[in-house]
Amino acid sequence: MPDPATMSKKGMVTKIHTRIRADPFTASYDLVGKELGRGKFAVVKTCIEKASGKQYAAKFLRKRRKGADCRMDILNEIAVLESAKANPYVVALHEVYETNTEIILVLECAAGGEIFDQCVADNDDAFTEKDVIRLAKQILNGVAFLHRNNVVHLDLKPQNILLTSARPIGDIRIVDFGLSRCMDNITEVREILGTPEYVAPEILSYEPISTATDMWSIGVLTYVMLTGESPFQGDSKQETFLNISQVNVDYSQDTFEGISSLAVDFIKSLLVKNPRKRATAEECLNHPWLNPLPHSHSHSHSHSHPHLHTRPASSLDEPETSQSES
Ligand code: ADP
Ligand code: MG
Repeated sequence: MPDPATMSKKGMVTKIHTRIRADPFTASYDLVGKELGRGKFAVVKTCIEKASGKQYAAKFLRKRRKGADCRMDILNEIAVLESAKANPYVVALHEVYETNTEIILVLECAAGGEIFDQCVADNDDAFTEKDVIRLAKQILNGVAFLHRNNVVHLDLKPQNILLTSARPIGDIRIVDFGLSRCMDNITEVREILGTPEYVAPEILSYEPISTATDMWSIGVLTYVMLTGESPFQGDSKQETFLNISQVNVDYSQDTFEGISSLAVDFIKSLLVKNPRKRATAEECLNHPWLNPLPHSHSHSHSHSHPHLHTRPASSLDEPETSQSES
């Protein structure tokens, strides 16, 4: 008979290497009041390590949620953070504390906040296509690293992608591995997870989850970063789910005004219903949108002229006189 104490949900990893400290968190850290964010079961606050004077983000996770023991879920989150510590775009885990009721993750502080804020911002604060290209590369670098290690994030959305600084726009940090799963040694993971607007069609139809599930979310994320609009959002959850399962996406000139056709092509390679036909993280990193053609006039690849970037990658050998700004 399975022992409920060691039983875990499919794809969860609970073997961790970080020492869990039982001494009081407040003996080593000062909480400086400011709340950085919160989710359903977690509060994240700024703290200062007394010994170093360094600032961190402390994520306080309740071990009991709705009457259930969720310690294993938290260990899974820690294990995934450990597995990605070599990648600069995944938030770094500094220390872990445990009390009777909580586990506290002491994380690298991403002081620029959620990219969500720039996604919904008006002109002045909104991302330019050039920003999105740089940030998309970083997100894909982090996600490709996770996928190479058979980890799927399963909750990629603007609230879980942070910036090291907001002005000037810094670098990406991927956070919130609470729903992440390891695809190792498991036949299939099928669960209803994630956030309606960012969830892939296979999740809605209860088909197996794979790394391609994250790639769908990156398609939605890129769409939102470029246009400020959420491609599948309907007036109700049902409508949103219908839009997703029908891949009902607006690629009109109106929505993508001033945005290159390569960007649209990139998004279209991700918002594909069949997960096997969706671009992988590695394929995305090689997409021409993120790789201006190598050429002697490197300055000629200004993204302020999106209409000039419709040339297929196969025409590498052709001169690019039409793109020259000089
Ligand atoms: P939840 O699982 O509850 O969604 P998250 O890990 O997403 O928890 O954290 C909730 C929010 O707290 C994030 O959306 C973000 O705004 C903020 N946050 C989380 N981690 C950090 C961090 N390392 N640095 C700065 N802010 C953070
Ligand atoms: Mg979150």
